[in-house]
Amino acid sequence: MTKTKAEYIWLDGHQPTQKLRSKTKIINGSIENLKDFPTWGFDGSSTNQAEGKDSDCMLKPVYYTPDPIRGENSFLIMCEVLNPDGSKHSTNSRANLVKVSKKYKNEVAWFGIEQEYTLFQGRSPLGWPEGGYPAPQGPFYCGVGADEVFGRDIVEEHLELCIEAGLEISGINAEVMPGQWEYQIGPLDPLESADQIWISRWLLYRISEEFGVSATLHPKPVKGDWNGAGAHTNFSTKAMRSPGGLEVIKKTCEKLNKKHNEHIAVYGAHNEERLTGLHETCSIKEFQYGVSDRGASIRIPMQTSNDGYGYLEDRRPSANMDPYKVCYALLKTSCEK
Ligand code: ADP
Ligand code: MN
Ligand code: MN
Ligand code: MN
Repeated sequence: MTKTKAEYIWLDGHQPTQKLRSKTKIINGSIENLKDFPTWGFDGSSTNQAEGKDSDCMLKPVYYTPDPIRGENSFLIMCEVLNPDGSKHSTNSRANLVKVSKKYKNEVAWFGIEQEYTLFQGRSPLGWPEGGYPAPQGPFYCGVGADEVFGRDIVEEHLELCIEAGLEISGINAEVMPGQWEYQIGPLDPLESADQIWISRWLLYRISEEFGVSATLHPKPVKGDWNGAGAHTNFSTKAMRSPGGLEVIKKTCEKLNKKHNEHIAVYGAHNEERLTGLHETCSIKEFQYGVSDRGASIRIPMQTSNDGYGYLEDRRPSANMDPYKVCYALLKTSCEK
């Protein structure tokens, strides 16, 4: 009989930033759809999700892709965490996104997320001199050459894995700080974009193991005059993508202005280290929007302004944000009447 290898992936209860956990289930037989993956359990007392006495939590499969690392008859399964009675666990942010995305289904929202990250070897970013600093920022963004970019072998491997897993990865680039990179997922509907970000992050950590390197999503991995790492979240509704959409986008920015603090609260921990007003950011204490403005909280892309419709870019979310929470906040604030 076929033995299927199913990697069950979930978010733990680590604070202030939840981390990925996963374990493997061998299923007898082959898989045809999501229902073929049974619910499963884990020891919540080892993941900050339960007390020792009553430690079982439930894993409910909600999204899956082929596992490009293990290959044939192998899958990556994103799971929601439930309490033993089947109710939503307090650490389950996805369930909230399910609700709002159903509620605002007719808005046909799309998200495109730019995931920045930094590769580390030991205590320094990959390619940095031991205990020291490379040349100042400038030549590294989208650079080429062994003296400009570090870790391209990992980046290329990760790109290939994302494609083989069927993720909607739309590009990659070397970032401003050496050792820092970006990939983009989307545009996709809210749940798909968020699930795919989590699967792509899992693949990034997993493939970095093979190179003895670790990837971090910390928003300010190196203090000082170095760019931080963000997760710019590009967002549109059907109305924004249709003629006259620019007006809808501007109205949405006014709504976002009023909810700035609520959004910042779920846009990632340590984000104040990154949103300083320097390094292509707007201060965490202010809200600004503008066309082509990379120093604003929200940028309206030049193309969108020229066409009169398109999308907006929320530049505030940090690299370590939970896409379930960010997409939830953007959908709710934008679509609420
Ligand atoms: P930047 O110029 O900010 O670096 P990128 O090219 O890295 O931009 O990322 C742009 C992102 O916007 C991509 O993920 C893309 O899929 C997404 N995107 C494009 N059009 C839309 C749209 N209409 N709605 C939402 N996201 C979109
Ligand atoms: Mn980008
Ligand atoms: Mn970037
Ligand atoms: Mn961007």
